Formats: sequence, structure tokens, C-alpha cells
Amino acid sequence: MAALHGIVLPVPSGRVHNYINMAVYAALGAGAVWAGREGLVTLTQTQTLHFSLGFLAGTFLLSPDLDLSEQGVNSKRNWGFLGPLWVPYGMVFSHRGLSHTWVIGPLTRLAYLAILVFLAVGALRTFWPGVNLPALPDPIEWKVLLPVTLGYFLSQWLHLIADGIRPDHGLRRARRRRR
Ligand SMILES: [Zn+2]
Repeated sequence: MAALHGIVLPVPSGRVHNYINMAVYAALGAGAVWAGREGLVTLTQTQTLHFSLGFLAGTFLLSPDLDLSEQGVNSKRNWGFLGPLWVPYGMVFSHRGLSHTWVIGPLTRLAYLAILVFLAVGALRTFWPGVNLPALPDPIEWKVLLPVTLGYFLSQWLHLIADGIRPDHGLRRARRRRR
């Protein structure tokens, strides 16, 4: 149960989180189309695509509830046969702990993903030396990174809001531990 301003709400399931995120995504899309027509914003197709990639990855593949992936969760299942790779993440992070903080939480999943990619690339290079791997664009461009990051963080924050977790969750946890 999550307490939001004294009201006790049930914790949403993975499916409910997906519905909430996609409803907000649709509303944002409609808002962007309207604002575009009114001449209030000009979003390029590329910006929209990059934002969507970040948002959808954050919703379906990198949800905060991966901290439960030692069991079965939606976002782990969406990884298909790669799902078990998230089990160590679930073992390291307690449910609704650091993984469910507003800034560090989303970064822990990116860092964990980076470690997985690093290990996979290392293994590929070791066992298949001639392999041609796609290179990261160098330098990584802000105009790509910014909308992706925005989409990703927004998807994470919607999850946390639906869970009834406030932005100072991490600070309160730390304070409690010091006491
Ligand atoms: Zn959650």
C-alpha cells in the first residue's frame, strides 16, 4: 500500500503502470499536435521519435519494478529470453528502495544496462574476434540525448507518482537509516 497525502492507495500492478504511462503518452501526443498546429512549439519528427524511444523503453523495458525481477514482473518478461539477465538487479535492489528514487533510481537501471552491454560486447569480442559491432556515435549529440533522457525520466516519474512515491523518497530513506 502506498500513502499519498494520508490517503492509502493500492500499489498499481505492472499492467496498470503501463496503462497510466500510455494514457499520458497519448495525451502528450495530442497536446503536442495541438500546440504544433497553434504554432506554440515546433517539434521535429526526429525529436518526437527520440522522446518516444526513451519513454517506451522506460515504460516497458526499464521500469522501476525490475527491482522485483528475482520474481516475475512485466518489464522482465518484455526482455524475452534476456529477462533473466535482470535477476541480479532484483537481488541487489530491494523493492521500492533506491530503485524507486527519482534521480538515482532511473540511473541505476541505465548503469546496470551499460554493464550488461559492456559484458556482452566483451564476450562477443573474445569468442568472435572478427565481429562487426555497431559503434556509438561519437560525439553523442545533445539533440538526440536530450529528448531520449526526457522521455525516459518522464516514464520513470509517472511510475513513481502512481506508486505514491514523493521526490524526496531517497532523502527520507537516508535520514531514516541514520537515525
Ligand atoms: Zn513500482
